[in-house]
Amino acid sequence: MRESDTSAREPGFAARETANLPEVQGSPRQRTNGPWLFAVCSAAAMLTYIDGKFVGDEHATVSVRSRALNYGIGCFGGIRAYLADDGEQLFVFRLDAHVRRLEQSARILFLRLPGTRDELADTIVELLRRNEIHHDAYVRPMVVSNAPKLAPLLREEDSSLIVWCMPLQRYIDKDSIDVCISSWRRTPDNSLPARTKPTGGYLNSALARREAHDNGYDEAIFLTNAGTVSEGSAEHVFIVRDGVLCSPPSTEDNLDGITRRSIITMATEDLGLRFIERPIGRTELYVADEMFLCGTGAEVTPVRSVDRRMLGDQDVANGIGPVTKQIKAYFDDVVHGRVDKRREWLTPIWG
Ligand code: PMP
Repeated sequence: MRESDTSAREPGFAARETANLPEVQGSPRQRTNGPWLFAVCSAAAMLTYIDGKFVGDEHATVSVRSRALNYGIGCFGGIRAYLADDGEQLFVFRLDAHVRRLEQSARILFLRLPGTRDELADTIVELLRRNEIHHDAYVRPMVVSNAPKLAPLLREEDSSLIVWCMPLQRYIDKDSIDVCISSWRRTPDNSLPARTKPTGGYLNSALARREAHDNGYDEAIFLTNAGTVSEGSAEHVFIVRDGVLCSPPSTEDNLDGITRRSIITMATEDLGLRFIERPIGRTELYVADEMFLCGTGAEVTPVRSVDRRMLGDQDVANGIGPVTKQIKAYFDDVVHGRVDKRREWLTPIWG
């Protein structure tokens, strides 16, 4: 997978100590669009929220002693905001669902949000406003253990809430991708629950992605320890067989995905497609008529080959099958606010 060049360095965790810094008011930002966007918006110029304050991103730092850094104790979310067709409005996709999942993740990990879900949603809206976001963007809320103490301990009272954002257009910069089955297995739910979107758990994803890239693939697909398909490093898997859309349930050690759930709703309720949620075997991927990955970052990313087997029934020239094409186009319409019945999934930022 080749990620879009964001130029924005990914900020790390922020420190509780910096909450004492003077609050920075939202800096006016030029309206920017297009591929050069990434070059002009550096993370250093962004505002980040940490523990009740909006501070310049350069002040949002974490102690080297924090449990968040030393033991990867924390959980996070990833949310997209899309510039509407009018070039003015910005729509956050499924904000409530993302906030709810983060709260649930925190609860599993004995961490907590400082306030209500509505307050977190308001903070995210406020962050986008203060950063004057008028382009496609990504928002990263995190709840981490910021205690600078030895030993991995989960304690609600150590929770820090951090939210940062950055410009993001394509996360996977290819129209269709070549994937492999990873030699790394997905961490089982009973070891490190993917459901919690745990910061530390992404070492598992990083190992698989590195292996995939080293071997010339764009992305890796994890199997569970039982040998069935789990998910990609940061995406869910869908296949099409004989006209039926299939995807493994979250009990296959994958994240309870918001894009996945949204696509299932769109496919079955809006597009009249048949969908079955069931375990998928490795070699079923080789004989799938179509396959795509989905996620907040990946959106709908068509897959053209798995372990060097070209998938059937696809237009080989572009590697995108007809069902995938239909879902991808509809998804694009929904997130940009072109589908009235799905407008309730969108939170407008401006006006
Ligand atoms: N699986 C993993 C491991 C992920 O990190 C992500 C990205 N959040 C996904 C799947 C896709 O989930 P969602 O649609 O909720 O972004």
